[in-house]
Amino acid sequence: MANPMADENRRFHGSDEKNPFEAMSERFDRAAKLLGLDDDLYAVMRVPSREIKVYIPVRMDTGHIQIFEGFRVQHNFARGPAKGGIRYAPDVSLDEVKALSAWMTWKCAVVNVPFGGGKGGIICNPQQMSLGELERMTRRYTAELIDFIGPDKDVPAPDMNTNEQTMAWIMDTYSMHARHTVTAVVTGKPVALGGSLGRREATGRGVLFCVNEAIKRFDLTPETTSVVVQGSGNVGGIGAELMHAQGYKVIAISDVGGGIHNPDGLDIPNVLDFLQKNRTLEGYPGAEQVSNKDLLEIECDVLAPCATENQITSENANRIRCKILAEGANGPTTPKADQILHDNGVFVIPDILANAGGVTVSYFEWVQDRMGYFWSEAEVNARLEDKMVASFNELVHYADKHNVDSRTAAYMLAIDRVAYDTRMRGIYA
Ligand code: NAD
Repeated sequence: MANPMADENRRFHGSDEKNPFEAMSERFDRAAKLLGLDDDLYAVMRVPSREIKVYIPVRMDTGHIQIFEGFRVQHNFARGPAKGGIRYAPDVSLDEVKALSAWMTWKCAVVNVPFGGGKGGIICNPQQMSLGELERMTRRYTAELIDFIGPDKDVPAPDMNTNEQTMAWIMDTYSMHARHTVTAVVTGKPVALGGSLGRREATGRGVLFCVNEAIKRFDLTPETTSVVVQGSGNVGGIGAELMHAQGYKVIAISDVGGGIHNPDGLDIPNVLDFLQKNRTLEGYPGAEQVSNKDLLEIECDVLAPCATENQITSENANRIRCKILAEGANGPTTPKADQILHDNGVFVIPDILANAGGVTVSYFEWVQDRMGYFWSEAEVNARLEDKMVASFNELVHYADKHNVDSRTAAYMLAIDRVAYDTRMRGIYA
C-alpha cells in the first residue's frame, strides 16, 4: 500500500499558492461571480453540508489500544448522495478533506452524474501498520460513520493509500450492521464483490477520450500528436498505454524517481514492463533520462500531468510548451499558473473533467450494484466514452458562449447545475 504521493502532499501546507482549499475557493469565487450567483446560493454552496470527525480506537498488534483521528466531509447533496474517496495518510487534515469534497461536487456535476461531493480521511501511517491493524481501523471507522454513509446517503471509494481491499472491508462492515449485503455502499470494490469491469482503467481511459476530442481543435490526429505524461500509475501509466495503443507518439513518461524521453516515441508497454520489473525508469535503454521538473518543460502537443498536485505553478508555467494540458491528476496546476497558461494560449482540459472517468465508472458501478445486473467491459467503456465526449463538448461550448477559459467554464457549468437544482428544491432554512 506504499504511496509516494504522501510526501508530496505535505507541500499543501505552508504555501498559499499550493493550498488546496484556497485554490478551490479562488476558482469557486471567480465562477460564482461570473455567474452572478445570488448571495443565498453562494453562502450555501461555498460551505460543506456536514463535517464529521471521529476518534477511532484500534487494538494494535501489541495488544494496546491506539486512537486514530478520522474525518468524513459531505460537501453537497443537492444532486444525490455524496461521493468521494477515503485517504489514509499521516498528514491528511480536515481542511484538505474539505477542499477535496467540494472538488467532488463540481466533478460529478461537470460529467452530470447524480452525486454530490464527499471525501474522507484517517490520520495514520499505513506503511507502518499491519494488514490486521488496517482492517480493524477501517471497520471501526465504518461503524462510526454507519448512520451517515449508505447507497442513498454517501458512497465512499478508494483514494490515497486505500484500495479495493479497503472497500471490501467497508462493504462487509456496513452489511453486517444492515444484516444483509449492501454492495452499493462503496465503489472501487473487487469485481467479484460487485465491482465494475473497466473501473481500474476508467480514469486513464477518460483522459484518452478527452484528448481525442481536444486534438480535433488543433487539426491533429493521434499519429501526428506527441504526448508527455508525468506519472506512470493508475492514471498516467494506463493513460499512456491507451494513448500509445491508439497511435499517439508518447515521447516522455516518468515516475516519482524521474523520467525518460525519446523524441521518436517510446514503446509504452515495454516501458511499463521495465518499470514493473526494475521498480525504476533509470537505465531504460534507448531514451534520455530527465527529471520530473524538466519533463514538464519538454515541447509537445499534449502534456498530461498524472502524478500529483501543484506541479505547474507561477514558477514554471511560462516554460510549459504544450498545446493541450490534460490534467489527469487532481490539482496539478495552481490558480496563478492558470493565468499564465491562458495568456500563452495553452488549451487546458481541467482536472474536474479530464480525470472524471474514474467517478463516472464509479457511478456505473453503483448503478450496476443497485440493479444487480452487470455490464460487459465493452459496454462500460462505450458508456464512458459517451459521457466523456458529451461532457467535453458541453464544456467547450459553454466556454465559447461565455467567453471564458475552459477551467472557469468547468466551474461555472458545475456550479450552475448545482445552483439550479438547489434553487428548484428550495433552501430549507
Ligand atoms: P498512483 O499512485 O497509481 O500513481 C502515481 C504516479 O505518480 C506514480 O507513477 C508515482 O511514481 C508518480 N509520482 C508520485 N509523486 C510524484 C512526484 N512528486 N513527481 C512525479 N511523479 C510522482 O496514483 P493515481 O491513482 O495514478 O493518481 C494520480 C493522480 O490522479 C492523483 O492526483 C489522483 O488524485 C488523481 N486521480 C486518480 C484517480 C484514479 O481513479 N486513480 C481518479 C481521479 C484523479
